[in-house]
Amino acid sequence: MASKAESAPARKEGMYDVVMRQFEAAADIMKLDPGVRKILSKTNTEIVVHFPVRLDNGKIEVFTGYRVQHNNALGPYKGGLRYHSTVDIDGARALAIWMTWKTSLAGLPYGGAKGGIHLNPKEYSKNELERITRRFTYALGDNIGPDLDIPAPDVNTNPQIMAWIADTFSSTKSPSTRFANLHVVTGKPIGAGGLAGRDRATGFGVVANLKAWSKLTNNPLKGMRFTVQGFGNVGYWTAHFLLKEGATLIAVQDATATLHNPKGIDPEALNAHSEANGRNIQGFKGAAEMDPKEFWALDCDIVVPAALGNQITEENAGSIKAKVVAEGANGPTDIQGEQILLKNGVHIIPDILCNSGGVIGSYYEWLQNKRAEIWKIEEVLEMIHDKIETSFNQVVETAKEFKVDWRMSAYIVALRRLETTYMERGIFP
Ligand code: NAD
Repeated sequence: MASKAESAPARKEGMYDVVMRQFEAAADIMKLDPGVRKILSKTNTEIVVHFPVRLDNGKIEVFTGYRVQHNNALGPYKGGLRYHSTVDIDGARALAIWMTWKTSLAGLPYGGAKGGIHLNPKEYSKNELERITRRFTYALGDNIGPDLDIPAPDVNTNPQIMAWIADTFSSTKSPSTRFANLHVVTGKPIGAGGLAGRDRATGFGVVANLKAWSKLTNNPLKGMRFTVQGFGNVGYWTAHFLLKEGATLIAVQDATATLHNPKGIDPEALNAHSEANGRNIQGFKGAAEMDPKEFWALDCDIVVPAALGNQITEENAGSIKAKVVAEGANGPTDIQGEQILLKNGVHIIPDILCNSGGVIGSYYEWLQNKRAEIWKIEEVLEMIHDKIETSFNQVVETAKEFKVDWRMSAYIVALRRLETTYMERGIFP
């Protein structure tokens, strides 16, 4: 019988190649110090763990988990954990590197990391996922920690999974350090030390970016039509907040279906349907199913990719009619796709800026935990909004200074901060 745990796939061209090419281009343009360039072109630590778990049917499976820690010059490593059948070492590397740029751009005291488990979580029961998560946490051991490396939710991971990690990590340490060790992850449920507003922080940040873009380009969001790929945490909350700005959601695509309704899809009704349907949008009555291949070509003003990497490519970028692509996902646009969009005058709000609301929210959760405080959601969202606006304006100004697009400019802002830190601190010994 086929094993449920899949073996890790062989190396293929993918997100890692994209992130490295973007980095090399930015480093050339800004004339990054050669020594710093060497340091940042490598990951500091790459952890691969194989760990056994007993399934509900009594059989044992061995799973493969990853944690790549790219750089910690600015502070502890920070980045999500993803449970997906595409998780591999190259993907984890790429996503870890993007996290270093993202935390630097946002002005946070963090480095960059990423990881996850190579599996399809929909094939496992809740009890199995709990045992898989706890055993993965145990296998990572002291390679993570509240002042060393702080994971957070990503694709197919959620506050419940963060709570299991926090509980396992802190339970396997001395009881005298239990409470400090509970803060090993962010994105926890509120009752387990989570932050009010962390659930919606990424989608809120995507819309904060779109508001800044709207102001800059004089394109009111009210009356605009938008499409969203991925209707999980980021896709749903982005739709929720864009609706508040008076925009209309006309199409949604997830792993199971592509739905279209030119008169508008209610994100709340779709979310309720998805929740009740194993987080799948298929079968929703408020929209018609359409051919997934037609999704990107739909007539709309805003496109929000909020699923996986390398989705906007030379195959579909030319068909995009929107004024702006707001990258909720990490790495959704590949190099060729980006060139086509830019040639066609489509603005791109790059991932490391656009989806940074999530890690900014995580930072405030970590601070709240460290100070043993409990903050109000209104304060949290206002602080995230302010930080996003600051980063957005910095990216626009730096783009003018270097005469580059916004992605290059976002990289330059991030790399400059890292370069300054290395120059000031020097290299041990
Ligand atoms: P999620 O698991 O909550 O949702 C993922 C969604 O993508 C689901 O609706 C799923 O059906 C859909 N999807 C998966 N494969 C697909 C495919 N082939 N085609 C279309 N849709 C597909 O994950 P999330 O937390 O919302 O993360 C989405 C993206 O946003 C990821 O790239 C993640 O790295 C990025 N991101 C997440 C956060 C966060 O705070 N959660 C922060 C920053 C960036």
